[in-house]
Formats: sequence, structure tokens, C-alpha cells
Amino acid sequence: MKNATDAARLIRPLRSSLRRLLQELVRTNSVAVLAGGNETPAQRVLQAFFRERGIRPELYETAFIRDAKFPQVRRHKSYAGRKNLSVRVGGSGRGPSLLLNGHIDTVPPGNARWTYSPWSGRFHQGRILGLGSFDMKGGVVANAAVIVAIHTGRIRLGGDLLFESVVDEEWGGGGGTIAARLRGDTVDACVIPEGTQLEIYRATRGGFVVDLVVDAGDSSAYFSGEEVVSPAMPLGRLLGWVARIAKQRARVKAKGAYRGFADPVPVQVLAVESNRLDPQVPLSVPSRGTVRVYLQFLPQEDVDGVITNLRDDLKKFAAADPFFRKYPVEWQPLIGGPLYGHEIPEDHPWLRCFEQSARRVLGEPAVTTAAPYPCDAGLIHRDFGIPTLLFGPRGAGAHNPDEYVEFDSVIRTAEVLLAAALAWTNT
Ligand SMILES: [Zn+2]
Repeated sequence: MKNATDAARLIRPLRSSLRRLLQELVRTNSVAVLAGGNETPAQRVLQAFFRERGIRPELYETAFIRDAKFPQVRRHKSYAGRKNLSVRVGGSGRGPSLLLNGHIDTVPPGNARWTYSPWSGRFHQGRILGLGSFDMKGGVVANAAVIVAIHTGRIRLGGDLLFESVVDEEWGGGGGTIAARLRGDTVDACVIPEGTQLEIYRATRGGFVVDLVVDAGDSSAYFSGEEVVSPAMPLGRLLGWVARIAKQRARVKAKGAYRGFADPVPVQVLAVESNRLDPQVPLSVPSRGTVRVYLQFLPQEDVDGVITNLRDDLKKFAAADPFFRKYPVEWQPLIGGPLYGHEIPEDHPWLRCFEQSARRVLGEPAVTTAAPYPCDAGLIHRDFGIPTLLFGPRGAGAHNPDEYVEFDSVIRTAEVLLAAALAWTNT
């Protein structure tokens, strides 16, 4: 019980400063796009927050990963000026170490209408509103709270505690997390407070996004008396192929942490584009069409094998269709290679320790399940051998308008993380 009551006692006085920090982080644009990101101003907000409390964080460049011999680096991206922030709290060396990882980048706000500005940071009915509030500045604030609580409470830990706010997680980047590991920040266990509705996720899925592009060439033929060729209608048949793949994938048997999931390996169409409904675009027949497909994979699946089979199947489909025989479907992966999932065994000591801490803080057992998305956990766990789980606040609207996080649940997250850090680093 002691760690749980200590955690509540240590976090309580920080509440209003944590709220202000979260609001300021939401108000600071840290959007990442496909090829780059603008995270450093938000890292400076965090840096100032720590410094004002006598903690000295390290802000470091991540661009060196482009020269590293690590296969999953997205070499088409720019990392210039994109900095990670880290804080290490040294322990006595008698216990295992722990990493509190979180990403500071957000997706762009999109074209749909937000009720308030994506950067409002408004506090309303217990919620903080805005882009990245739930995914995952709320979680980053909970992580920061743990460091400040330990520092101001002068708590001596057994093992080291490492905080990191990384860049480039969205768009399947992984760059910030890779930079942190490659520079030598290694630990014995990790937790990432992505939004989990105060549930524990012991597994994440793999993911892959591919654009299927059909180019039928010369649109100038329109209104010029020549025959107009357009992929717009054949795109319907291509969507039919995606639907068949989705049906096939729906037969994959869910295993382990994904047992009981209604759709354990979803196939989704994220976008279909062939001309635009924009009033600036004249009535014209499009010569190009794209279907953007998002596939997810179980942690145990042979992801590369599944993708190869899909690609072969698409080739067969196209070979049997006179239009696609003439105008081939191009396979253009959007983010590069796939992300891989991960899973911590049910009886793993880090999971056991975390479940116990969560139960003590929350007063009842937290549900342990699996994430409906991929994230940096796959990299940390699989490629760097650090057992990783997810536990974070309640909220909604990630990657959509009117995103919000419930502020009380950010505080609860901080308490659980702190109790778990105390317990784990002193085992
Ligand atoms: Zn996220």
C-alpha cells in the first residue's frame, strides 16, 4: 500500500502546475508531417518546466540516426533540428531501471472542422481540449510528473529512472525512440502512457500503409475529341479486391493478448482519391486514382510474409483485369516498411509489478488487454529487448477533430506510473 499512498501524496501538490504544463504543451505546435516535424518548441516547454524545478534535462539532436546501420530508420525523412529531451534520475544501482517513454509530436489537425482551435488547450468540464492532448501530451505530462515528484520528494530509488520525450512517432516514424536507444539509453523495462483509458496494454499490433496508385495517363484528351481513359470506375474493382483481402484477413485467428478481439487484424481503406469535389476543380475526368490501405498484424504474425502474399495476390488480380493489365496498379508504401507488434507474456515480472501498482492506486484491478494500434512499443520491446507496456489516460479523438483528454485521468496515470516506478526500481 505504501507506494500507492506515497504516489498520491507526492503527485497532489503538482496538480495545478501539471494542468498548466499540459495546456502550454497543447498550445505549442509540434506537428509532424510525413517527411519531418516541428517538435523542438514543445521540447523547450518541457525543458523549462524541469529547469524551474531544479532538474537538468538533456536536449539532443536525432539526425545522427540517418547514418546509423539500423534497418528501421526512415531514411527518406528529415531529422534536422528535431530534438529529443531526456532526464535520468540515478538510483543506488541495487534495483532494475525503468524508462518512461512518450512522444511529443502530433499528427496535423486535418481538414475537418474543430469546435475550438486545435491549439486552444481549453480546460472545460474536466477535459483539456486540443490536438495531441490525448495522443499523447497528457501521457508525457504524467511521465514528467513522476520525475518531478521523485525529485522534490527527495526519493532515493534502487534502479535508474529515465524520462524521455521523443520526436517522430506519428507516421510510423520511430526515429526519436531509435535515436534514444542508439545513443545508449538502455533500461530493464519500459512503460508508454499512450491513451489507454486507464487500461494496461501488454501488446501492440503491427501496421502497414500502402497506396495503390493507378495512372491512366493523358487527361488532356478530355474535351479534345480523343477517347478518355480514366481509372475512376476500375477503382471500384480495386476496392473489391481490398474487400476480399479484408474478408480473408478476418479469418486470422486471434491469439494471446488479442484473443476475444472482434476484428484482431483489421484492413481499412483510409482514403480514396480520384479528382476532387473542390469548387476550384473544373468538371474533368481524372486520369489518376489512389486507394490508401491500412493493414494491421498480430504480434506473432510473419508480417513480411503476409505483405509479400498480398502483393502477389494483387498482381494476379491485376493480370486478370483488362484495364489493370494495361494500366498497372502501383504499390507505393506510404511510411516505408511495416511496423511490428509486440507482446509481453502474462506472467512477466514487469507486468505483474505494474498490475499490482495499478490495483493499489485505482482501488480495483485495471483491465489488462492489448492496443488497437501500433506504436513505438514494438521497436523498444522487439528491437531493443526492453519489456514494454502501455498505460495512459482516458480521452478521445486521437487523429480526429475535437481531441481531448480527461485531466483527472492524467493525474491517475501519474500516480500509477509513480507507484510502479517506486515498486519496480526497488525490487
Ligand atoms: Zn501516440
